Amino acid sequence: MNDLAIVNGKIFDGFNSYKANIYVKDGKISAVSSRVLDAAEIYDADGFYIFPGLIDPHVHFALNLGKYRSADDFESGSRGAAFGGVTTFVDFLDPITEDSEIDENFSRRSELASSSHVDYSFHMTIAHPNIAPEKLIRRTLALGLNSIKCFTTYSLSDRMTGDGYIFELLKSSKDLGVVITFHAENDPIVIHRNSVIEKHLPKDLPFLHPYESEAEAVSRIGTFARLTNGQAYIVHNSSGRSIQLLKEYGIPPNLRLETCPQYMTLDDSKYEGNSDEVAIHTLVPPLRSEFDLQLMRKYFTDGIFSTVGTDHCPFTKKEKIENMNDYDSMPNGIGGIETSFSILYTFFVNKGLIPLNSLVRMQSVNVANIFGLTHKGRVVPGADADIAIFDPTKEWEVSIDSLHTNSDYTPYEGMKLKGKFVSTVVRGDFVVKNGKFIDKSKGKFIERKPVFWNDIKKYNDYGGE
Ligand SMILES: [Zn+2]
Repeated sequence: MNDLAIVNGKIFDGFNSYKANIYVKDGKISAVSSRVLDAAEIYDADGFYIFPGLIDPHVHFALNLGKYRSADDFESGSRGAAFGGVTTFVDFLDPITEDSEIDENFSRRSELASSSHVDYSFHMTIAHPNIAPEKLIRRTLALGLNSIKCFTTYSLSDRMTGDGYIFELLKSSKDLGVVITFHAENDPIVIHRNSVIEKHLPKDLPFLHPYESEAEAVSRIGTFARLTNGQAYIVHNSSGRSIQLLKEYGIPPNLRLETCPQYMTLDDSKYEGNSDEVAIHTLVPPLRSEFDLQLMRKYFTDGIFSTVGTDHCPFTKKEKIENMNDYDSMPNGIGGIETSFSILYTFFVNKGLIPLNSLVRMQSVNVANIFGLTHKGRVVPGADADIAIFDPTKEWEVSIDSLHTNSDYTPYEGMKLKGKFVSTVVRGDFVVKNGKFIDKSKGKFIERKPVFWNDIKKYNDYGGE
């Protein structure tokens, strides 16, 4: 006898779409079949679309910035995630320099994450480690993590990893089975721009972090990836012109690109004037020009991006606005995990620009493949029963009152969307059921084994990305 049957829905698995019933037993998918089988609970998904649970590769819950902490902790963040169809997310450890910091850092973040309602993992994060690159990779893998995040900038706050270290990491990455992920900006450009204006205001953000800085670093990482054959991944690509440059040089197949919904929908007109509106849209990389935005949309439509992350990192309006006259103390970041899929569905799928299965790949299947979440992102027997159930006809308007974040605003306030998640299942248990949150739901840490992108075809039943 199965525990759960989700019947009459239309499945979009990232490649194909078909009507079938999904059966769940002991947290795993036991069958996907048009037959009617026994189950203790039957959920009628007639009229709904069914996706493998979404996976957000880029969130910052309970991010501690000293004076400020991001508004969503793992409890509220994962609640919002579930309402947005997300069944797994990957957060970050705090940046480390010494080997001795690693274990304590991992325990601290694990303890915080234990309140999550959906499944999770972490990216190892480094500053400028005093650890041999290979040893760092082995230490990372031993924790059940297979990705390492570096910053190519932020030397001013002591978080930058040098090119030499990055090159060595990339060289070892494909043999040892890790992914090296990058916040890509050119450090001297950022330092220079910071020194040019004496007093930094929120409206200066596009000047302080210009697209050229991203373009230079993204193409440098592209070059390193090509020359090392390493497994390279660039987070939060924001600028169409930086992708244009990368494309002209050729994007190597071992370089994967992530973007975020904010870089597909909002532009730098939010930074005009010096109003509260400017303060609440501070994030790095900043929103780009209308020209960049249009290019980003074109590249998104063309399939240049492998994944969508949200970089979910909201603060409250008050925390933003009290730094109106002092950008250097501004907590950067905005929220977006709950609205990501519906926004991109409305802007791209509903307009006929991309097939729905492409969005499912970017928000689930590809993330699972790239980050070695081998039991996630699949609607096949044996996979974890992580299911997102979506009503494609539901029309709604984003308002902060309709969301589940602890923040008190959303940059998407008033945006009219079509398509909304109604229910979300994590390993067979409902976290959201017909729009109601199931409080007792519990996520768990998902161990990630070494991942080898060349082998993706071997473990993906559908033959790779
Ligand atoms: Zn981030």
